[in-house]
Amino acid sequence: ISGNVIIEMGAAVTTDDFFGSPTIRAAVPGIERFAANVASPPIRSRATLAGNIANASPIADMTAMLLALGARLVLEGDPGGERLVDLSGFFLGYKKIDLKSGERIRGIMIPGEPVLFNFEKAAKRARLDIATVNTALAVVTAPDGTIASARYAAGGIAPTPLRLVDIENLLTGSRPSADLAREAGRLAANSGSPIDDVRGSSEYRRRLMERLTWAHCIRLWPELKLEEELLS
Ligand SMILES: Cc1cc2nc3c(=O)[nH]c(=O)nc-3n(C[C@H](O)[C@H](O)[C@H](O)COP(=O)(O)OP(=O)(O)OC[C@H]3O[C@@H](n4cnc5c(N)ncnc54)[C@H](O)[C@@H]3O)c2cc1C
Repeated sequence: ISGNVIIEMGAAVTTDDFFGSPTIRAAVPGIERFAANVASPPIRSRATLAGNIANASPIADMTAMLLALGARLVLEGDPGGERLVDLSGFFLGYKKIDLKSGERIRGIMIPGEPVLFNFEKAAKRARLDIATVNTALAVVTAPDGTIASARYAAGGIAPTPLRLVDIENLLTGSRPSADLAREAGRLAANSGSPIDDVRGSSEYRRRLMERLTWAHCIRLWPELKLEEELLS
């Protein structure tokens, strides 16, 4: 797998197929540890990536991960036309997607360049629950330790899953530190338009976004022991 390689998955790839794939695991080392955050074993064995995306839930976990992984969709029309869309542009509004009549998702493509990846999900139960908010961060680090590129996704803070470009711009070119994590957390807390509902208040969601952003930084760069500064 190199920077120029694209991984293409068919629409019927299941959640289990995805986390079990040696190709995905090589491009996103450690991604399999997040499988348990998604639904339950029977659901993961059946639920497809395309179904998770087209269902257009603002808190879909696979969608958040695929957004951070820079996914593009191959859409196939009737009688055979094809177009490519960025997953980040696919969600037009609450449960509204950029799929024309007669079109279906034929494939999902992600860059094969290996990334550092983390996923965080806050829910009322630790397992088998849908998210109050979820977020995924994928970064590539440069040899000098700075962040060469970053993709940050969040769900549960807007009518659609989001890419948070402000945070991506902040991280890109920066060196990981507690101050950077705090600034990214501040941006995350002020992103989207979270609402109050049975899973939590808008204020709680903003606070979660701040803390889950810190969690991304703590987990992506354990050698920096950022928790000692952030959580003291
Ligand atoms: C009990 C339970 C718990 C769950 N927990 C979680 C969870 O924790 N996290 C999470 O992210 N999700 C969760 N889900 C959702 C699950 O992961 C699936 O995303 C969802 O059930 C869709 O399933 P499916 O893939 O069979 O799609 P389907 O039900 O077959 O389809 C869903 C929608 O997508 C459309 N669609 C499917 N394939 C395509 C295609 N190729 N092109 C265009 N449109 C298409 C269908 O027309 C339909 O509108 C849960 C579901 C259940 C039932």
